[in-house]
This record gives sequence, structure tokens and C-alpha cells, in this order.
Amino acid sequence: MTEEKMRFEAEVSRLLDIVVHSLYSNKDIFLRELISNASDACDKLRYEAIAKPELLAGDSEFKVRLLTDNVRNVLTIADNGIGMNKTDLIENLGTIANSGTAKFVEALSKSDKAKDVDLIGQFGVGFYSAFMVAGQVEVVTKKAGEDQAWKWSSDGKGEYTIAEAEMEGHGTQITLHLTDDFKEFTEEHRLRHIVKTYSDHIGIPVVLMKADGNDETLNEASALWTRPKSDITDEQYKEFYKHNSHAFDDPWKTIHYQAEGAIEYTGLLFLPTMRPFDLYDPARKGHLKLYVRKVFITEGADDLLPPWLRFVSGVVDSQDLPLNISREMLQHNPVLTKIKNGLTKKLLSELETASKKDSKGFETFWENFGSVVKEGLYEDYTNRDRILKLARFRSTHSDGWTTLADYVTRMKDGQKAIYYISGEDVDALKRSPQLEGFAAKGIEVLLLTDPVDEFWLPSVGQFEEKDFKSVTRGGADLADVKSDDKDDAKDDKKDDAASDASLDALIASIKIALGTNIKDVRESDRLTSSACCLIADETGMDLRMERLMKQHNRVDEISPRILEINPKHSLIKKLSDIAIKDAKTPILHDAALLLLDQARILEGEALPDPVSFARRLDLVMEKGLGS
Ligand code: ADP
Ligand code: MG
Repeated sequence: MTEEKMRFEAEVSRLLDIVVHSLYSNKDIFLRELISNASDACDKLRYEAIAKPELLAGDSEFKVRLLTDNVRNVLTIADNGIGMNKTDLIENLGTIANSGTAKFVEALSKSDKAKDVDLIGQFGVGFYSAFMVAGQVEVVTKKAGEDQAWKWSSDGKGEYTIAEAEMEGHGTQITLHLTDDFKEFTEEHRLRHIVKTYSDHIGIPVVLMKADGNDETLNEASALWTRPKSDITDEQYKEFYKHNSHAFDDPWKTIHYQAEGAIEYTGLLFLPTMRPFDLYDPARKGHLKLYVRKVFITEGADDLLPPWLRFVSGVVDSQDLPLNISREMLQHNPVLTKIKNGLTKKLLSELETASKKDSKGFETFWENFGSVVKEGLYEDYTNRDRILKLARFRSTHSDGWTTLADYVTRMKDGQKAIYYISGEDVDALKRSPQLEGFAAKGIEVLLLTDPVDEFWLPSVGQFEEKDFKSVTRGGADLADVKSDDKDDAKDDKKDDAASDASLDALIASIKIALGTNIKDVRESDRLTSSACCLIADETGMDLRMERLMKQHNRVDEISPRILEINPKHSLIKKLSDIAIKDAKTPILHDAALLLLDQARILEGEALPDPVSFARRLDLVMEKGLGS
């Protein structure tokens, strides 16, 4: 018999090195991983056999069998699932095939050895966890519909071998030669306990084969979602979630229900506690599985949930779809569309309830998933209003989160719009000069930091008939808003500011100095302590929106903006005095350029010509020091 020797992919070797030498204490999980793989393999064959019943070759009672030999110290896990051919073996057991394991490896490079060990429990290492308890692992397998069986074998130290083998029927047998420390995994009570703990929810029987022929089924062996809710414990739901969703957290919400009426299906849906690491990966397939009358059809079906709910995982089992439906036929299937609408409504109402009854929990949920949910505001018109009511925001008037409804109750007399400012982080936003006038009048401003905000705002436009308005765009209209601050009255005293005539002179001279760098120069009513700031045109794009578009190459150039100057600022007053006496004084030219650069810096923008800026600043400082 010829045997081929192969090397593991470098990443696998590294992983195995850690797994083999790991002091990770909960070794039991290897069995959960192997049973889970066996059950997946049976699901795959069951699906393939819908179109090609001959693949079953008469063996249609799917099960996982456990065989022990406490003399040779061997545990075998056997299934009659899809099996693997040579190519499958190399791809699946020689490389890092699954995302949980990939994530584990990714996390490794950043941490030390002791921490790596903990990660095994957090991320799971799938098949490779067998090497935690076995010095030698043999996989004998035959793919359903093929004639040749194969034997894969390894001690987990860098190499594995593949050779032709003999096998009755199809499926996979994984034989673990346990190391002396792990004799316990041949003991019946040990296996019984592990299977009950971790694999009870597996839909096919896990059978312990006994020498006396009285084989014992160790698990419940009925699909969890088909059992009555009252028979299912929290622990069982949690284990199912972890298995089904490849998750390492506990579910935040578990929603198990029966939809009845025009469309009948069972839903077992989970909302995660933690954000999956690949939530923004366009290639990500979710973990919502579609079954038709308990037969697994597909996972991560796009047609089952809108993208803004892509973090939801679980199972949907339909009574109405035909069993022989192909994955291709699922697209635009009217039954599926109805299920999708039903699931969306159900999830929305669960979120609404949670937002009222468990506001802390909901806020944590929002921190993790709010940016994804907000995609629904421009993608899902029918549910827009409900999503908008769920949405939570940071604002100048609260340290935590606020709803739009609460914002509206805090609006000032005469305030017509819901004001917002957007940017990268809340603290930087709070310091924006554009907010000064709003702060002085006590007007609340929403602080938006998700890139997605730039997309839904233009398409939503209003909440309760109030426009959303960027504070970095157009006129601030602050004059109409009544201030509730008594001290504020003095701010309105005109004599505190530069005179109209001198300010006009200054504005004219700044315009000349800045030329086409700027669209306009205006007197500001939104500034109180800063000298100047940049504003986008009323008709133009929001400042940050435009910058974001530029970053993504959606626009070529940032369009010229408006420079607003603060007539009450002492520097502006002094410059105005100079401008009305002699508009041609060279200092005004330098000052105009410095003001523009300063406004750009406040915006967090890079200066187009930092060298000239520095030179000009030096000059002005020198003059200030007197010579
Ligand atoms: P995952 O199950 O998350 O994909 P694993 O490391 O557990 O990752 O398994 C890697 C792959 O090996 C599986 O995706 C599957 O293709 C294959 N595999 C493992 N066990 C079996 C089995 N008993 N029958 C068929 N294929 C299997
Ligand atoms: Mg697995």
C-alpha cells in the first residue's frame, strides 16, 4: 500500500503545536467538536440525497457511533455522513478550513503562550482539538457515491500521511489513540456525561456501542427546535447556539416560536451578546439555517433575513416549502419572502420589547449592532419608522444614549430642526467650534460617529416632521431659537462685536486673499469662543460626508467651503479695525490664510501647504513679540 507523506500548512503546524502542548483544562470539548462534525456530515449527505437518493446506498438512518477499547486505549467516532475523498482530506484536515480556527490563529500572533491556551476555549479549534487527548489520530473515510476509501493519519507534529484504504459503506471513522493521561475517555460514564452536556441537541442519535450488544443512545436525538419550549433548558439553548452559530459568547436573546397561519414555520433565533468579528466582511455568510421539515437545506441564505439583521443566527424550519427545493430555487421564492417578512417583524417586536424592558441590555446590543441596524434605515423602507424609533444616539446633552423621541422633548422654543454633527469620535466632536453657538443657547446636538450615518441621513431626512440638519452646513438659524440662559442676553449685545462696516471690510479683504480657496466668507452666529470655522453650503454636501466620499474615491475633489468668522472674537475685532482703515495692509493677507488653515485644523483636515502655514505663523508670532 503506498502512503503519501504531506506537511501541514504552516498555520496548522503552529496551531497543533499549541494544541498538543496546551494546558487547556477543559479537554472534554474535543468530543463536542468531533460529534458536531459528524452531524454536519450527515446533514450534508441528507441534503445531497434529496436530488440523488442513490448516494445513501440504503443506509439512511443517520447516526454517530462511539466505540471504545480500554485495553488499547482507543476511542472511535464514526458516522455515516458524506465522507471525504483525498482532495477533501487535504483541504479540510491539512489547512485551516474554518473561520473559528482562523480567528484563533489570528489572535495568537498578538498574545503570549499562556493566553493562547485560553483562546482554545474561546474560539474552538474544531477537528484539531482531537490532538489535545490523542497522540495519534487516524481518519478512515469514504465519500458517498465514490468507490475509493482513504486513510489519513497523523501524530500532530507537522506531517500527516494519506493512503488508500478499505471501508464498508460511506462516512468517516475517526480513531483516537489516547495518551495515557486520557484513558478516562474510554469510560462509559464519562462519555455519557460529555454527550449529555454538549451534544444533547444534535438531531441524530449519538450511540455508544457496547460489547454486549445493548447499544445505548446517549442524547435526546431530536432536533432541539422541534421540542416544546418547556422541555428545553437554558443550558441546552446555549449549547445549541454555540454549536449552530459557531459562537463563543452566550446568546443575549433566544427567540423560539411557531408561526401559524398563512405560512407555517418554526423559528429558533438568537441575538448574540458579542459582535462577530466578521460582521462587516462582505463575503460573510450568516449562521441562520434553513430546514424544510427537519431536513437541512442551506445556511446563511440571503433571502431569509435582510442584511441589517445579519447578526441573527439560528434555525428556520418551514412546513410549506417543497423538500426537493434546490438552493438555486430559493431565490425570490414567494414563500421564503413571506418567512423573511415574518422573521423581520418578529425580531423588530422583540427588540422593541427589549428596548423598553431591558434598556441597559438593549444599549449594549446597540453599541455592538446599532451601526448594522441603521443600514435598514435606507435599505428597508417598510420598517424604517420602527427602526428609527429603536435607534439610539450620543448627544451633547447626555453621557449615555438617547432616542430621537427624547431629543424632541428637549427641543427649544423656536427650534425647528434636529441638529447633528458627524465625525470620527464623540470627544473630538464635542470640541467642534461649530457647536459653540448651539451650546450657548442650550440646543442639543446629536453626535454621530458611524460612517453609516452619512448614508441614512440624506435618505431619511425627517423624524416626526422635523428635518435633520447638520451644524456644519448652511445657516445655523440660531436667531429664532429662544435661549433659556439668562446670561446669554449679553451675547446678543451688538456693541460687543465688530461694527458692521468694519466687519464688511474685513470680509471683503479675506475674500480677496483666499480667492477660489473658499466659496464665501460670512459672519457667524454659531461661534462664541473660536475665531472661525468652516461650513458647507446649504445646497452642498455635509462637510464630513464629503470627506468620507473623498476617502472612498466617490468624489474627486472637496468642493470649496464657506469660512465663517466670529464678530465677537477679539482677533476678528482687531482685524476688522485694521481692515476699515487700510484694507491693503499685508498682515490682513497673512491673517486670512492663517484663519483658513486654522479652520481646516479644527476640522481635522490635513493642510494643503503646511510649510507656508508654518512660515506665516512664525512671522506673525515674531511680530506679536515685537521687534
Ligand atoms: P468546521 O467544522 O468548523 O468546518 P473543523 O476543523 O471541525 O471545522 O472541520 C474541518 C472540516 O473537515 C469540516 O468543515 C469538514 O469539511 C471536514 N470534516 C471534519 N470532520 C468530518 C466528518 N466526520 N465527515 C466529513 N467531513 C468532515
Ligand atoms: Mg467542526
